[in-house]
Amino acid sequence: MPPPAQELRIADGEPASNGVLRVDLSALARNYRHLRTAAAHSRCAAVVKANAYGLGLKRVARRLHREGCETFFVATSAEGISLRSALDRATIYVLAGPSSGEEEVYAAHRLCPVLNSVPQIVAWGQHCDRASRDGAPPLHAALHIDTGMERLGLSRADTMDVAANAHLLEHVTLDFVMTHLACADEPSHELNASQVRLFDNLRAHLPALPTSIGNSAGTLTGHYFQGDLVRPGIALYGGNPYSDRPNPMEVVVQLFGRIIQIRQVSPMSTVGYGATFRMEKGGMIATVGVGYADGYPRKLGNACPAVVNGRLVPVVGRVSMDTLAVDVTGVPPEDLRIGAPVELIGRAIALDRVAQLAGTIANEILTGLGARLSRFYVD
Ligand SMILES: *Cc1c(COP(=O)(O)O)cnc(C)c1O
Repeated sequence: MPPPAQELRIADGEPASNGVLRVDLSALARNYRHLRTAAAHSRCAAVVKANAYGLGLKRVARRLHREGCETFFVATSAEGISLRSALDRATIYVLAGPSSGEEEVYAAHRLCPVLNSVPQIVAWGQHCDRASRDGAPPLHAALHIDTGMERLGLSRADTMDVAANAHLLEHVTLDFVMTHLACADEPSHELNASQVRLFDNLRAHLPALPTSIGNSAGTLTGHYFQGDLVRPGIALYGGNPYSDRPNPMEVVVQLFGRIIQIRQVSPMSTVGYGATFRMEKGGMIATVGVGYADGYPRKLGNACPAVVNGRLVPVVGRVSMDTLAVDVTGVPPEDLRIGAPVELIGRAIALDRVAQLAGTIANEILTGLGARLSRFYVD
């Protein structure tokens, strides 16, 4: 069912928006509690990079903080600065770590770097040494060991280098050592266990520290894949953390587009660019004010349904930049009015199904949802 019309109203004085992202903050909080319960022997952080996967960094982070989440991960220092302005007390780790010369920015906003390379460790150590001589409180950091992504983090050789040169960490206060699983979405994949074994072998050469392993899927898969601090992202936002089993999470996000025009179409007319859909018998087309510029994938033209007042209708023709067309021939005329919301992603049309039809994953759909959509929060 679509939400009541007043829930889709936007704040007074804002220009009208034809696309609305409805974010259920209570469902977000329940997903957080579910993950925290699944990782009962770990602390549960939240990954809020990329504007909290497109949902809105500050609103999402404040709601999670209210739920008891004290530790957040972002990708970049700019995201960290933005989050700091919303949450004064939270602990914020930046996954990329400081670029050269950026250490002062981390200090100024109390951002904790994830140290991914030997040069980052060296620069951060020098910064901490200077800061402590100036009497500044020690800034905390985390260490990342790469065990199977070949992406970010210390390689095996880097880890041995750090282990053999204890002075590198002399001035660095480390909270934990982390690694990231490549195949956590397939819990029985053999790489998961071998990554954890390698992680244990490598970190044994370093000072003893708490660990952080699990992303969303790792968090739900058991303590071996969690570590002392878990880092779920997509599952908080209702995406399926698994690629091989049903989604255990609650729906958080619904995308609605408004009907901006309704037209009678004569037999044999074609709809949209490229004339890829023909209305053999004619009928009714509703034009919806959301297109690929809003993050609705162009691939979904002629491939995915939408929902008009509880009724499934096909998206027909190609998706345009700002609009898409739905065939509403079978919809009772009283349900067809200008401004009516059309559900494009949400309950009847699950995020994961949309992602699958578009040939991608929920993460990419969510982070692609455009700045032009108004974001509406319910709690
Ligand atoms: C993005 C990210 C996560 C969160 O992953 P999800 O699959 O969205 O839960 C955790 N850890 C690291 C290092 C990440 O980059």
